[in-house]
Amino acid sequence: MIHKVEGIVIRTTDYGESNKILTIFSRELGKIGVMSRGAKKPKNRLSAASQLFIHGTFVYQQSHGLGTLNQADIVDSFREVRSDLFRASYATYIVELTDKLTEERSRNPYLFELLYQTLYYLNEGIDSDVLLRIYEVKMLAVAGIKPELDQCVSCSSTELPVAFSIRHAGFLCHRCLHRDNKGFKLSAHSARLLRLFFYIDLHRLGQISLKKETKQELKEVLAAYYDEYSGLRLKSKRFLEQMERMGDL
Ligand SMILES: [Zn+2]
Repeated sequence: MIHKVEGIVIRTTDYGESNKILTIFSRELGKIGVMSRGAKKPKNRLSAASQLFIHGTFVYQQSHGLGTLNQADIVDSFREVRSDLFRASYATYIVELTDKLTEERSRNPYLFELLYQTLYYLNEGIDSDVLLRIYEVKMLAVAGIKPELDQCVSCSSTELPVAFSIRHAGFLCHRCLHRDNKGFKLSAHSARLLRLFFYIDLHRLGQISLKKETKQELKEVLAAYYDEYSGLRLKSKRFLEQMERMGDL
């Protein structure tokens, strides 16, 4: 059976002398795997499209098991992301997170759109930290581990929270702060942003600039939350952290 999908390459694995297995997150079918024969040879007609981050249309044949790629047309190669080591490392983390938190053939056009839009903004030079945090917050729902961001997780008060509890998976108000002595204290600004990041339609994101301290606060809360609930240890995340330390120098 022949399939045609629009998708983004989120992982490539060398296979044998000259082939690659592509993991594609597609609009139509969610995550799929296809064999791209000869893709490791530079002159092969499939090689340009058989690379990480490529957004394209992919035609493949599948009877059972892994499909075989017949044709691939590039829509966008995200050149700026590809040519900048920092942005490439952010994008690598985004696609690895997507790969690890999704099942094959679980259709999610919303997630495809989110992935595409995030790479597009990264390519355009929108603040990569902001994009990463938004992506992380939104992926919590995909992973089925969304924290309580609408109210206090303990008493359901909807006043502005003052902390985020990893243990109780959500916001704490000032009266319930004592319920978790390891809770992350949050500025009002960071609390609002966490909630906003969950609900915002990424298409409507304007230029957003955050103070370094705010970025750090959000990053630490989300890193701790992922450590506790996602069970993931991502190579790309460790690399990204090394890159960030280099960038600070
Ligand atoms: Zn409370």
